[in-house]
Amino acid sequence: MGWLRDPARNPYLLRSFLLKRAPMPATHSTRMLILGSGPAGLSAAIYGARAGLSPIIVQGIQPGGQLTTTTDVENYPGFRDVIQGPWLMEEMQAQAEHVGAQMMWDHIVEVDFSRRPFRLIGDGGTIYSGDVVVIATGAQAKWLNIPSEEHFKGKGVSACATCVGFFYRGKKVAVIGGGNTAVEEALYLTNHSHDVTLIHRRDSFRAEKILQDRLFANPKINVLWNKAVDRFIGGGDPEGLVGLELRDTRDASISRLDVEGAFVAIGHSPATETFKGKLALDSDGYVEVETGSTRTSIPGVFACGDVMDKVYRQAVTAAGTGCMAALDAERYLAEAEFEASAAA
Ligand code: FAD
Ligand code: NAP
Repeated sequence: MGWLRDPARNPYLLRSFLLKRAPMPATHSTRMLILGSGPAGLSAAIYGARAGLSPIIVQGIQPGGQLTTTTDVENYPGFRDVIQGPWLMEEMQAQAEHVGAQMMWDHIVEVDFSRRPFRLIGDGGTIYSGDVVVIATGAQAKWLNIPSEEHFKGKGVSACATCVGFFYRGKKVAVIGGGNTAVEEALYLTNHSHDVTLIHRRDSFRAEKILQDRLFANPKINVLWNKAVDRFIGGGDPEGLVGLELRDTRDASISRLDVEGAFVAIGHSPATETFKGKLALDSDGYVEVETGSTRTSIPGVFACGDVMDKVYRQAVTAAGTGCMAALDAERYLAEAEFEASAAA
């Protein structure tokens, strides 16, 4: 009878042994599961909680979203004075929690939209089950994707001036890009550096005029038009960035700019890797929604904020579509419940 106590020979004992060694992953069920804790996800949570949907928010690896990487926010309605991005996001989260939303420190790595309720899996194996899902996973910084870039990340090359700009006090730095982010990063860097070069591949910016006016008025900023960065150049011991190899986009001539810091600010890509093949994405990878709504190609799955918006991409529009997603989700659930009770 010794085999009864031997997990290698008794399958029942083996199962109970394995279950003790590897406990079942936790499961969290909710009516409304929200992916992302930027302005879109938190606004959806505020509306969802107030509608009694007990939302769970899976925060992702950037709690608070993109605005936590910036300082001054001057265009979010309701504040006459300049406010700070991280502060605004803390306030939004506090409001969402105050009305009953539950925050989870996790990142969704797998989704199953083929079953109801929807089933999603977090990074550590935690299972999330939701009657509706709101995708608010936002966007991430784009990189130039030139061979030397990866090598110099953290050694002079960054995508967030507000995060590491302080380390370049008194040093020459460059920003690459021509949108709002690039212009703001260049302006911000003048707090630390007396010599900031903004490098743009064309001869005009797409940044808002008010930002451009500030840029051109700042004597610490020099603009290099029609230039692309072909290579990050290293040197020193320990090795760090010492310069950029630039190519003129009109005549292909090569030049060099000496800098110790370079900030890539060329836009963002939607965070939709996890959803590929699970619902309809457009050719740029943004979640497709029905015009004028947040409904995706899967009934019961809604998308809001930068993950579905490549035109406006503002905190206030993200918050606005977050509100829309919660209202669309609430209506969807009410209709589904009405149909179920009529059929019973
Ligand atoms: P994000 O803010 O991108 O949030 C996405 C969230 O999704 C994050 O919490 C992330 O952790 C989470 N996530 C991602 N993948 C997963 C996953 N698999 N599972 C779970 N969670 C996930 N707009 C303005 O209106 N005014 C400004 O002054 C302004 N300044 C800016 C400055 C900078 C430097 C940048 C980069 C942007 C700025 N913007 C500004 C734009 C604004 O930040 C964005 O439009 C807004 O944050 C988009 O909100 P969102 O909620 O859609 O996404
Ligand atoms: P963006 O508006 O998409 O601009 C990206 C810039 O980078 C463009 O000038 C583009 O050049 C350039 N670029 C793209 N790929 C490149 C490459 N491979 N090499 C060199 N240059 C490249 O991105 P963003 O500036 O990050 O702004 C994103 C959104 O956030 C926008 O909607 C913006 O309004 C918003 N935002 C708002 C604020 C604010 O309101 N204060 C602040 C920051 C961001 P081309 O012009 O030639 O295409």
